[in-house]
Amino acid sequence: MSERVIPLLDHRSAALAPPSSAPDPHTPAAISGRVSDRLGRPLRDLRISVTDRCNFRCTYCMPKEIFGKDHPFLPHASLLTFEEITRIARLFITHGVQKIRLTGGEPLLRKNIEVLIGQLAALRTLDGKPLDLTLTTNGSILARKAKALKAAGLQRVTVSLDGMDDAVFRSMNDVDFPVADVLAGIEAARAAGLGPIKVNMVVKRGTNEREILPMARHFRGTGIVLRFIEYMDVGATNGWRMDEVLPSSAVVQLLRTELPLVPLEPTAPGETAERWGYADASGRHDPQLGEIGVISSVTHAFCGSCNRARLSTEGKLFLCLFASRGYDLRGLLRGDATDEEIASTIGRIWQGRSDRYSELRSTMAPDAAGGARHIEMSYIGG
Ligand code: SF4
Repeated sequence: MSERVIPLLDHRSAALAPPSSAPDPHTPAAISGRVSDRLGRPLRDLRISVTDRCNFRCTYCMPKEIFGKDHPFLPHASLLTFEEITRIARLFITHGVQKIRLTGGEPLLRKNIEVLIGQLAALRTLDGKPLDLTLTTNGSILARKAKALKAAGLQRVTVSLDGMDDAVFRSMNDVDFPVADVLAGIEAARAAGLGPIKVNMVVKRGTNEREILPMARHFRGTGIVLRFIEYMDVGATNGWRMDEVLPSSAVVQLLRTELPLVPLEPTAPGETAERWGYADASGRHDPQLGEIGVISSVTHAFCGSCNRARLSTEGKLFLCLFASRGYDLRGLLRGDATDEEIASTIGRIWQGRSDRYSELRSTMAPDAAGGARHIEMSYIGG
């Protein structure tokens, strides 16, 4: 992550000029209420990164060579405060956001994260309902935190876990962290009632595809939904190559050699995972055995229904996981912009969105995608 400074506030924020005494006929009207982007996609899902730090150094996300001891992580004063995050979340909700996911880095490293969760849990959607409030974690300190997170109002968690084999897992997280401690974190989350729990496994060909079946065997019948994610060209530091992608179709095929699966309908619009249910002897889905998901970000892009916005640790709004630039909202939060002005800016930015990187990736020359300059996933969350 050598370049973190992003040129900001484009012309779409011009509406923030302070009002003059006489209304300017050219000033665009404030944007309020539910918004859709240029491809007709609503704004429903907000991912908020609360820290750019992580205690793992997964080779596909924060490789040690780049994120070493001397890496300049953001100073504390650059991070959005909990009050700023809650204010901006409330303004996103006025445009239709129903779900908020806290990410990082590793979000549980942010001090007093429970306080932020408590503030977000008190917010209500436009329909007056509680938010779908969740968090993605590497699970390393989940065992210690699960109860407090639940008590603060967190509903569920997604845990990243790339293998059951301790040696493979230690080598993938690159800090020699044992798999048993993550499994203990998952158990603690379950005991605390943070469900339904999802476990995300990034599958990298040549590295951990042997872990697919052991992972499925371990989580089948537990109520935990295991999801296999195609290895992506996130960031600019992981040296991604297309031949390291194991397509989801191959994952499903492999699973079916041992564990019968039947396709399931999506549960929500814009759902990223394709669902497969474990089948019983009669070939029907057995809810007791549960289900898996495959997220085919590379081989079967789902940009057409992408309703996700991402807010970085220092308050920049990104419209795509693969974006190379963001829009500075922290400047507005720390300036004298009113809620209406900030909400209007968010609405305007979303209305101008046309990002669909994964769909376009398939039209790029084979090496172009891996070489493209994106913001790091550890900075805006996955
Ligand atoms: S590539 Fe960007 S637009 Fe497409 S699904 Fe991913 S985040 Fe959404």
